[in-house]
Amino acid sequence: MVNPLEIKVERNKHKKTKPPQDQLGFGVHFTDHMFVMDYAQEKGWYHPRIVPYQPIVLDPAAKVFHYGQTIFEGLKAYRTGDGRTLLFRPQKNIERMNRSNERLSVPQLDEALFLSALQQLIAADQDWIPSGAGTSLYIRPFVIATQPALGVSPSEHYQFIIIMSPVGAYYPEGINPVKIFVEAEYVRAVIGGVGEAKTAGNYAAGLKAQEAAKELGYSQVLWLDGVHRTYIEEVGSMNVFFKINGTVLTPALNGSILDGITRSSMIQLLKHLDIPIEERMISIEELYEAGRNGTLEEAFGTGTAAVISPIGELSWKGEKLVIQDGQTGELSKKLYDTLTGIQKGSLADPFGWMVEVSETPSGVL
Ligand SMILES: *Cc1c(COP(=O)(O)O)cnc(C)c1O
Repeated sequence: MVNPLEIKVERNKHKKTKPPQDQLGFGVHFTDHMFVMDYAQEKGWYHPRIVPYQPIVLDPAAKVFHYGQTIFEGLKAYRTGDGRTLLFRPQKNIERMNRSNERLSVPQLDEALFLSALQQLIAADQDWIPSGAGTSLYIRPFVIATQPALGVSPSEHYQFIIIMSPVGAYYPEGINPVKIFVEAEYVRAVIGGVGEAKTAGNYAAGLKAQEAAKELGYSQVLWLDGVHRTYIEEVGSMNVFFKINGTVLTPALNGSILDGITRSSMIQLLKHLDIPIEERMISIEELYEAGRNGTLEEAFGTGTAAVISPIGELSWKGEKLVIQDGQTGELSKKLYDTLTGIQKGSLADPFGWMVEVSETPSGVL
């Protein structure tokens, strides 16, 4: 096991010019540093280091390019009004990354080292954390199979990398409902496959449906189960919730749905607020029936990027369903304000979700 204190730091001598806070976008600007660590079968993980943000050079035969052995994560650090830096439930991302690693035959990462790497990298790029309303520092850890060999077998070499990007308010003009296309032809994942893992192939496989939906004026796709094409799974990179007749429903984790950290936080928050919440199978017929008879009150997606994305309209096999007159529902707004308030440190955190990043990391800087 690598001692977390042994993370070497090579300072970037050529700091980039930072983009203006109102023009950040999502995942287009990157900070001055990155974390890198190598793996070799005979040594395990070794040489953890923080280095200037730079291209990675790989052999064209590196296994990641051919067989897709790669995992990623996504989490955010927030700057509070009083200047502290908070991470939202980083331990959950670390655990999920190791579950994804396990599914894709990637070696496990040391959890304490992972957290220490996050803390030290954020500390090194402190001045990149935006402070404006709705802004944050998006953190993208990922692992790639680097062994140059074309045999189909787990790679014997890997790199674990963390990059970071200051991101703007997802809704510069306040939260806005999105239009979602219910996909009846393509599927995202099946039970027994890799739907539960945050691995690249799931996203590549979804692009075609997403592009087709965009052409029709829908921003994302709602996936149905891969066997019956009946039960609701999730949206592109968000889990989904529906409020029907006062009860909030979300599809139960079944092995093909991504176990979202925003999803599980939302369930905890709803329980805390004494709002009935059920995790179970939900068929698209049941949802449409509730829409037709007026009991479907609200719908929203949850994920790290947008936190909550209200759904204002669905389209399934040519039938449109307008929800809440296409406006943001009261509960969606309340949940959004509560969770973002906790994340930004402006509301109390009764769940102990936020982890403070110290500005003076261990020794090296
Ligand atoms: C990342 C992701 C989510 C949301 O997970 P969070 O941990 O809440 O960000 C949902 N679905 C898919 C497919 C995802 O990749």
